[in-house]
Amino acid sequence: MRPIAHYRPSHFIAPLLLLPAGLGAGSLMAMSEFFVSLFNVLPTLLLLLGGALCLIYGRQRQLFMLAVVYIGYFLLDTQVGYYRAHQAPRADAPLVFHLICLLLPLLYGLYGIWEERTHLLQDLFARGAVLVAVAAVATGLARSFPQGLLGLVSETYWPALSARWMVLAQLPYLGFLIAFGLLLSTYLRQPRPLHAAQLIGLFGLLWMLPKVFILPYALHVMSSLVMLNLAAAVAHEAYQMAFRDELTGLPGRRALNERCQRLGQQYVLAMVDVDHFKKCNDTHGHDVGDQVLRMVASHLKRTGGGGKAYRYGGEEFTLVFAGKPLEDCLPHLEAVREVIEGYAMQLRDRGKRPKDDRKGREQRGASARQSISVTVSIGVAERDAVQRHPEEVIKAADQALYSAKSGGRNRVAVHGQARRGAVRTA
Ligand code: GH3
Ligand code: MG
Ligand code: MG
Repeated sequence: MRPIAHYRPSHFIAPLLLLPAGLGAGSLMAMSEFFVSLFNVLPTLLLLLGGALCLIYGRQRQLFMLAVVYIGYFLLDTQVGYYRAHQAPRADAPLVFHLICLLLPLLYGLYGIWEERTHLLQDLFARGAVLVAVAAVATGLARSFPQGLLGLVSETYWPALSARWMVLAQLPYLGFLIAFGLLLSTYLRQPRPLHAAQLIGLFGLLWMLPKVFILPYALHVMSSLVMLNLAAAVAHEAYQMAFRDELTGLPGRRALNERCQRLGQQYVLAMVDVDHFKKCNDTHGHDVGDQVLRMVASHLKRTGGGGKAYRYGGEEFTLVFAGKPLEDCLPHLEAVREVIEGYAMQLRDRGKRPKDDRKGREQRGASARQSISVTVSIGVAERDAVQRHPEEVIKAADQALYSAKSGGRNRVAVHGQARRGAVRTA
């Protein structure tokens, strides 16, 4: 099944809250002892907790991004500690600093685009091998040719591109630019909370590095928040996996069950079922069937009257109207049924698509386009003295749905009214 990809502002909410929080706290010149102690242990705690979360959910990418940020933090913290204790930088400080500024964005970007494909252990081994190899080469060169390497990483290669605000050497900025391009293209290809988080996290690192020796808490605070951002995104996706239906983007059955526990005394539940959907699958194929389900879901999502849509399973959906009487909901159910009935979904006939792009454009909108439309049947029930629990109301709505089907489909049927011949027909 092809997962849907939607660009959602919600992907960026958590990262864009965490980043300014990091900028604010990291810019402080003084902090209470409590927060100083907290930020001293937070990167290590986040490595452990976030790493465990990544392993549980098979997110090796973020595991190694956490590791890379932590290693950078650890090496810089050692240098900063020496600097503060001796009021002078350690002899190797410039080289270590420039190397980290270059390698951190590059490795962060590399792990960010390196998708998990192979067996878990092989994957971990391959990623670990890259990290060890890069560390070994960097350490070997730093030991054998410290001056040459320092010159190489801190050189101004393009004087014309130098600007006053550039605190780092030119190569690290190039590293950040490459990492930004890689992570942005990853998000654009697969818009997911994790890809948004890793992209925004890069800006945190870019802000942090020039301030490591200048601001007392920039390193601890921003490393912690970049790592928290990654760990939170792993948790966000784990939540989505459990509660959201991947095909339609609607909340799924588990989310409906949760909602049902908090519905209170007055509510209406409607079961929506696509008519003759099996035939649609058989005639046009499973991919088109999936497209139809997404189309129906997108209309149900916009149901008025406060109706909230869930994918119940297969081609069945549930609409929940919390705190509403039945009479208020019926016009909205009727309206969404009509909108779906009247919607002509455009299909592109892939088999007939010409190889020539220009011809393809000409054909588009003419013979190469075929449209299909579907209808839905809706059964609706209200909580009352007989159906007191959500499971009973769903069962009642299901019975009404059965009446709608047997009454000819493409209609809204109300539980209890069918027997009296009051099925609302289209
Ligand atoms: P009715 O009008 O009585 O509801 O008939 P129907 O054909 O819609 O109902 P039926 O239960 O016979 O068929 C439902 C079909 O939905 C069968 C199943 O293959 C298909 N289906 C369930 N989930 C999916 C899905 O995620 N994608 C696609 N393409 N098809 C699905
Ligand atoms: Mg069905
Ligand atoms: Mg059906």
